[in-house]
Amino acid sequence: MSTVTKRVVIVGGSIAGLMHGVVLKSLGYDVCIVEARHPDQLKAQAAGLSLGPSAKSLMETFLPELDTESYSMSTATAQFLATDGTIISENKTSIPVVCSTWGLVFEHLKNEFLKPVSGSGEVQYLTGKRATSVQDSDDVVTVNLSGFDEDLVKTFSAHLVIIADGAYSTIRNQLTPGVEPKYAGIIAWRGNVPESRVPPELKAVFDGKLLMFRAGGSYLIAYLTPGPNGNAMGDRLLDWVWYDKCDVDSQDFQETMTDKSGRKHRVTVPRGALSEAVWAKRVERARAVLSSPWSEMVTTSESPLVTAITGFESDKAAFFGGKLLLAGDAFIQFRPHLGSSCNLPALQALTLLKILNKELSLIDWEDQMLSHGKEFAMRSIAAGQFGMTGTYPEGYVPLYAMKKADQTSA
Ligand SMILES: Cc1cc2nc3c(=O)[nH]c(=O)nc-3n(C[C@H](O)[C@H](O)[C@H](O)COP(=O)(O)OP(=O)(O)OC[C@H]3O[C@@H](n4cnc5c(N)ncnc54)[C@H](O)[C@@H]3O)c2cc1C
Repeated sequence: MSTVTKRVVIVGGSIAGLMHGVVLKSLGYDVCIVEARHPDQLKAQAAGLSLGPSAKSLMETFLPELDTESYSMSTATAQFLATDGTIISENKTSIPVVCSTWGLVFEHLKNEFLKPVSGSGEVQYLTGKRATSVQDSDDVVTVNLSGFDEDLVKTFSAHLVIIADGAYSTIRNQLTPGVEPKYAGIIAWRGNVPESRVPPELKAVFDGKLLMFRAGGSYLIAYLTPGPNGNAMGDRLLDWVWYDKCDVDSQDFQETMTDKSGRKHRVTVPRGALSEAVWAKRVERARAVLSSPWSEMVTTSESPLVTAITGFESDKAAFFGGKLLLAGDAFIQFRPHLGSSCNLPALQALTLLKILNKELSLIDWEDQMLSHGKEFAMRSIAAGQFGMTGTYPEGYVPLYAMKKADQTSA
């Protein structure tokens, strides 16, 4: 990887692309991010997003003027509740869970990326431009892009290309065909209610607790997040995710993933697009299987969205001698049960600094990213199994239990 020519192209302008963008810009690189979608399309999918330790560290280091508490809520206890509201289990999380929203994290990263700073590189954030393929030549990687006037295909070349175009990455598919996300047999229903409407039985969220409830082979998580106006008291939201099984071959799956205009979605039916019949069926299921506070929370939510849960792991992050790197969901996609999806790209961006400063070899960087990614992919699957069934895979030790054991033996 050359650091002489300081030009980087980043494919994908969501969380991973922007995290790499702010880090590389601060090092003086000229960074061009190309994003296929337009801003409104992005916001319609946004919900709660938690920040793991690397994501929090990246935000605090590269957005130092921003107080973490201004856009997030921290929780350190997970409480599993029974149908009658009694506590089944309560555990300290292995690390505090920092709950924010995709929209706020995206907006802050994008503002930071676009902010002119003396000594930093030149930046561009192009929307509506889709990367179609890449080619390697001696010094540079060329990215071919569509979405320009008169259907022109333009090419951008750079000494470093970061591929952050998500789990269904076009470019990863070109480089390693056949590595594809697999549907986990679970649909996540997501929504929120204003804090003023939080049912009294769920008020423990105000003490910084993450609440969980299992019923009918499904489970729900609820936590407090900032609202669109921030996290002052009264502005916050109770965000919830309800994981429920759904067979890919079932009529239920086909109906759920088809929006009110008849369009079929592969992964997410965005806010405002869910068909009335689908939502009515979900409300019926909520009333049938959930106890009253949870059912009330779900059925009174506005603009819910659904996501088919997928996951996969790549075996390679670096291509073309390190001139092209896979980042975030384009590299490894975790199931969302641990909320660690934006931690991996943050760790990648922070560790990339060490390669650029020649403190770490490319091979060691790739090894570290693979082992972190694979461990969290496995842990996310185990957490999902626990949520749905109440048991972990045989022999599995959750992080909070490992931490407890360490403290006992110390
Ligand atoms: C709009 C949106 C909303 C989300 N909301 C949430 C949320 O609320 N909670 C949560 O936990 N996770 C959410 N996610 C997923 C979350 O961002 C990721 O799981 C994680 O943060 C890693 O992000 P990523 O940037 O690697 O992938 P993604 O967030 O999937 O971003 C990939 C980006 O690449 C763009 N892209 C795709 N193909 C091309 C191409 N060929 N050329 C150029 N650009 C391309 C996509 O439009 C997208 O913006 C959301 C993702 C998106 C895109």
